[in-house]
Amino acid sequence: MPFTAPSWVPELPPIPDSISVETFMFDESYGRTALSKSKAPFTDGASGKTYSALEVKKRVDHLSRALSKELGFKPDSGSEWDKVVACFSLNTIDYLTLAWAVHRLGGLLTCVNAAYNADELEYQLKDSGAKAIFTCLPLLQTTMTASKKVGINKDKVFLMDMDKSFTGGAKNPGHKTLDEFVQAGAGLPSFEPADKKWGPGEGTTRIAFLCYSSGTSGLPKGVMIAHSNVIANTIQICNHESQDRADMKKKLGVSEYTEYALGLLPLSHIYGLVVVSHSRLYRGDGVIVLPKYDFKQLLQVIQDFKIVMLYLVPPMIIHLTKSREIVKQYDLSSVRACFTGAAPLGKETAEDLLSIFPTWAVRQGYGLTETCTVVCMTMTHDIWFGSSGSLLAGYTARVIDPDGKEITEYNVPGELCVKSPSVVPGYLRNQKANDETFVQFDDGRYMKTGDEVIVAKSPQGYEHITITDRIKELIKTKGHQVAPAELEAHLLTHPAVNDVVVIGVPSEREGEVPKAFVVKAPGSIEESDALLRRDIMKYVEKHKTDYKRLRGGVEFIDVVPKSPSGKILRRLMRDKEREKMKKQ
Ligand code: AMP
Repeated sequence: MPFTAPSWVPELPPIPDSISVETFMFDESYGRTALSKSKAPFTDGASGKTYSALEVKKRVDHLSRALSKELGFKPDSGSEWDKVVACFSLNTIDYLTLAWAVHRLGGLLTCVNAAYNADELEYQLKDSGAKAIFTCLPLLQTTMTASKKVGINKDKVFLMDMDKSFTGGAKNPGHKTLDEFVQAGAGLPSFEPADKKWGPGEGTTRIAFLCYSSGTSGLPKGVMIAHSNVIANTIQICNHESQDRADMKKKLGVSEYTEYALGLLPLSHIYGLVVVSHSRLYRGDGVIVLPKYDFKQLLQVIQDFKIVMLYLVPPMIIHLTKSREIVKQYDLSSVRACFTGAAPLGKETAEDLLSIFPTWAVRQGYGLTETCTVVCMTMTHDIWFGSSGSLLAGYTARVIDPDGKEITEYNVPGELCVKSPSVVPGYLRNQKANDETFVQFDDGRYMKTGDEVIVAKSPQGYEHITITDRIKELIKTKGHQVAPAELEAHLLTHPAVNDVVVIGVPSEREGEVPKAFVVKAPGSIEESDALLRRDIMKYVEKHKTDYKRLRGGVEFIDVVPKSPSGKILRRLMRDKEREKMKKQ
């Protein structure tokens, strides 16, 4: 028998499958908190600039009219692949305004990690087939370098509006801004949104977002996230939290309850996109947007906006626990819960945090880009440190051993496979990865997560999932993905590198950091090992974004261990390294 959500989780309502994310977010008949009773969806944490939910709805409409004129996108013709818009921006209050306007036109938004450099941006622009790009002033130069290389004209590069505290007062060198489009759109003719013409089930195949993930192996791939995937996970998350919210209403004696959440995590990543934004806004909550991680500003904003729900990643929690003296200078008493995901939060760190903030519910969730985020999470009434909580309703999970045999016992590790209406249709133009990742069981199509888990009962008596290891190649540093294959391909272009394997090694602050094991090219070794090591590290620094640097170091080896078929035995390297670190 597969594992499912425990008995306390309410049954999942039907998932609308013939509407766009934009319709779902603004049409009250789909169960969202009434727009008039919702908090302003996004507020700029620096300037306080904000728009009410009804104003955002209007901005989306006007923006879509202006974009239709500017880009020639017609809502009633063409597929989403003809109308791909890229967003390469730090968080702003209009990030989702843009996404929903593109959805109204029947297009899709490809979200680019704002930490990328020009080469990495170029790869995604080319792969996704983006026709236009929205960026922000701090990233404009990088954008121009990349857009030129892929043939996106300067007049198709637009700017998001941003508080001057983040732009350093820099001047806009003549690019149209999102706000200008909104103003212009008010005077243009309205149209029916693209999904008005969709038939039953069409929302399961129409793509809303294209995010990039390396999946179980290889280079970053476009993950095609359908409209119904976002809608499903939004409903699944809210369904899982419904008891918590009902308890809150009871406690406060109110019939409506909404709160502020922290919008610091990148909206370009699925965690920020679905958990922090869509699921909060559907419930009528407000998100306080911060474009950058500035620790003191973060504490100030929590205090000023009386934020109730914090969304963080483990390195940020470690920062909190190591900064007791600074933290004490702020009034953080509004916070009720701190939610973490994207990488494992150790039991000890969770206990540390609780010792500073004894009233906080320290919750953990587990999810992937390919499941359109949350698979399972802990709730206030069922917290178990170290575990990632119970499955959301609508999920069935199977745990399998390396031979594919199903494990049904508790506490026996195996690979987690999941089925859910939020599991994406697949990767863009990558049949091999799709065949390896999405597999058929008797009861339907499952995603092989590449994560090793155990299932066990929490002290409260409910089935929980704990992530025990990662089987796939992926390295997670500060919550960001690093694909070893990408770094290996790059390192192989270095003249002194004959062969290489990259693995993740544990780091207290970052979770994991990449380390390269290099086989030196014969004849090229005039330099000392120390010099060559530095040169190789610099080679990555020069061409890759900061978080991909070889912070785990470079070690020289004689040969990269490989299977008879030539596959790198990465796990062997990782296990050896772990043993070595244990002995140190
Ligand atoms: P991404 O697609 O970037 O969200 O990365 C998904 C991967 O992050 C998962 O497959 C896990 O390896 C890792 N991950 C996410 N949440 C957790 C968690 N709570 N504990 C451990 N690993 C996690």
